[in-house]
Amino acid sequence: MIGGGLAGCAVAWQAHFRSLKVLLIDRQDPDSSSRVAAGLVTSITGTRAAASWKWEEFYPVADRFYRQVEHTTGEMFWKVQPALKIYESISEAELYQSRWGDADPNTSGTSPRISPVDQTSDLAGLHAPFGACMMHPSARLETQKYIQSTHDFFLRLNAMQVMNLDLESEFDGRSDGIAFRSVECKSACVILCQGVAARENIFFNRLPLHPARGDILQIESKSFRIEHVVHGQGWLVPTDAGRFLVGATYDRNELTTDCSQQNPNAVKAREELMKRWEALVQGSFATKDHLVLGQRAAVRPASYDRHPLIGQHETIDRMYCMNGLGSKGSLMAPGLANTLLDAIDGARIPKHFEWKRRK
Ligand SMILES: Cc1cc2nc3c(=O)[nH]c(=O)nc-3n(C[C@H](O)[C@H](O)[C@H](O)COP(=O)(O)OP(=O)(O)OC[C@H]3O[C@@H](n4cnc5c(N)ncnc54)[C@H](O)[C@@H]3O)c2cc1C
Repeated sequence: MIGGGLAGCAVAWQAHFRSLKVLLIDRQDPDSSSRVAAGLVTSITGTRAAASWKWEEFYPVADRFYRQVEHTTGEMFWKVQPALKIYESISEAELYQSRWGDADPNTSGTSPRISPVDQTSDLAGLHAPFGACMMHPSARLETQKYIQSTHDFFLRLNAMQVMNLDLESEFDGRSDGIAFRSVECKSACVILCQGVAARENIFFNRLPLHPARGDILQIESKSFRIEHVVHGQGWLVPTDAGRFLVGATYDRNELTTDCSQQNPNAVKAREELMKRWEALVQGSFATKDHLVLGQRAAVRPASYDRHPLIGQHETIDRMYCMNGLGSKGSLMAPGLANTLLDAIDGARIPKHFEWKRRK
């Protein structure tokens, strides 16, 4: 695997669980999409309040997978907990109720459903003039911790190298395997999981990527406390006591990770996120006693049709890619990694995942 973000880590684990020999290579870029991501996994999304794409296929695999990785590493980074949805209008409240209001909130399982909120405890300090509901199932992957634990695990196994691999100049496609000159290993196959960096080299620079920068603010508040992830205008994630992440913007024009005051797009993103924070905590003390601790940005490897991009290279048989995870890497990566490994074993890749599908 070249690239150790959500894509590369998922492939590495699924291969390891199949008892395959793995070598994971990553340059540990601190501003990679996977390290900046909030890791939210939400069953109901978008303005149509629809179930997340292929939810029933991806979620059970992701849930089992992250629990298994937690068990294997002895670390905790996967938290399953309902998320609070604040309605932005009466029509949105009606839409959620008509689509999901009939499902029994007490049933466990993986199907999307909503349940009423407790006005006092769940909504304390939040501005919700049109009401709210709890969305089930929802989860959060602490991506930084998951990725670091994964890298540490494979480093201990001697199955990871931290390096910036210059793929083009180092490539050596021998008849009996694939190798890169500075890597002491000849592989049966190589899987490129580079996120937007796929555009830097000739191998998969034809992937139909349509990247988008996202910004997140880290905010501290003396008075505001909330237990659940909140979705309203954007989202709010409680992290440590009194600390929150507020996100995320979507910008297809600015594709840097520069968060400095000199970058007008970063300033604009910060202002937009502050507005979202203020809209959510309107009327509570949190509007006055907060402190912005930081801003981070990364570029999501999104595709034109918002579906993932996996499959084999056009001419190099033993070279594959897993990319195009967009805003849903935490949910999709474990299931897609299995689909890709099955394909390497000879199975067909469903057309909607295949990177060579028509736009
Ligand atoms: C602000 C923001 C918020 C987000 N929130 C969420 C969320 O709530 N939920 C969710 O599921 N997703 C979220 N995402 C999306 C998520 O981050 C992506 O879906 C996912 O991280 C993509 O993973 P990846 O492994 O394909 O790419 P990347 O994370 O970009 O990983 C690619 C890796 O490959 C390495 N690499 C590339 N080339 C080389 C090379 N030549 N040599 C060595 N290493 C190399 C890079 O350093 C990097 O570590 C968010 C993204 C952003 C930007």
